[in-house]
Amino acid sequence: MEREGIQGGTVSVLSINISKLSEGTHHHSLKATPEEVGLDSRFTKELQIEATLQKTSRQLYMRVEIKTGGVFTCDRCLEEFEQDISSGYGVMFVSDQDAVEGDGEEVQVISTDSTHVDLAEDVRQFVILGLPQKMLCREECAGLCPTCGSNLNLGKCDCRHDETDARWSELQKILKN
Ligand SMILES: [Zn+2]
Ligand SMILES: [Zn+2]
Repeated sequence: MEREGIQGGTVSVLSINISKLSEGTHHHSLKATPEEVGLDSRFTKELQIEATLQKTSRQLYMRVEIKTGGVFTCDRCLEEFEQDISSGYGVMFVSDQDAVEGDGEEVQVISTDSTHVDLAEDVRQFVILGLPQKMLCREECAGLCPTCGSNLNLGKCDCRHDETDARWSELQKILKN
């Protein structure tokens, strides 16, 4: 998938100046609000972004680490809970795609006279990708009772849950016949 690494004209809060970047390693600490990178309202914590650029004569590699957090709904008990989220990614900027060996890293092609790289869209995507498959308030969340819907983290309800009850009723049916 071809993607635009540079936004023409507009410079967002997560834009890094790469013009006249000397060879070697450069660190940038950036901050942005969830709204500024287009994250939805579940995200409530300001994003802390650490970008490390490694420039060589032919390539520019950037590693980005992101920390944020928000209020999410537990997939099991449907209660809201706060959780910190961290994510990260690496991207190789090249002016000529053919110059890159396929090493699994994301590659973005930028023109040699690009002055900035804009992180906002990648940061948004990788924060979303960094979310767990299942959002749980805690690992051992007991969830809701499928019968009465009460939150089993707060205490047992009066319904019968375990399979032995179901098997027992089956056995009772057999015995009655
Ligand atoms: Zn839960
Ligand atoms: Zn119940």
